[in-house]
Amino acid sequence: MKASPAGMNYCPDCGGPLLRHVVAGEPRQHWFCGRCRVPHHAYPRVVVTVFVACGKRLLWVQRELSPQRGKWAIPGGFLELEETLAEGAARELYEEAGIRLPPAQLQLYMTGSITFINQLYVGFRATVASEDCQPGVESMSCRFFSREECPWEEVAYPQVNDSIRQAYDDLDSGRFAVWQAQMTENHYELRPVSQ
Ligand SMILES: [Zn+2]
Repeated sequence: MKASPAGMNYCPDCGGPLLRHVVAGEPRQHWFCGRCRVPHHAYPRVVVTVFVACGKRLLWVQRELSPQRGKWAIPGGFLELEETLAEGAARELYEEAGIRLPPAQLQLYMTGSITFINQLYVGFRATVASEDCQPGVESMSCRFFSREECPWEEVAYPQVNDSIRQAYDDLDSGRFAVWQAQMTENHYELRPVSQ
């Protein structure tokens, strides 16, 4: 069930077979090339998101790209090399919804471990004064939705719906904690780390 790094079976350097490290009899999530011996480690990927609020509405984007094409999500994507977390989140927001916010204006809001898809996510929040937004190359559409208006049946990543519902709760109460989420195959936990 555990694939080698990025699903590779062969060394990207020399084409030799990738083998798993075994330490004290236990196979680890690390691979090395059986021919050139170069290690090929696998780590979780980092996803950055931004919850952008206008009044009681949150910004959603409709995905243009596969997977989940046509489904709705909170704007976000994979952090790229040499970016800070906030820079990556601001870039994704601009790419997907045409909204340009200075990274310093994004406030840390949620961190999450999603072990079954090997992702860490870091969510920021921001508020805007108008619902102006424009889909970019990675989105078909973007819109601000109240909790009642949300396309809950067409969300791209239902695994994080509870985090999004929490964001609507916080908008309603006007109190924003910083949240820490832990999601494993059979357990979900969201708890505040500050008030
Ligand atoms: Zn090799």
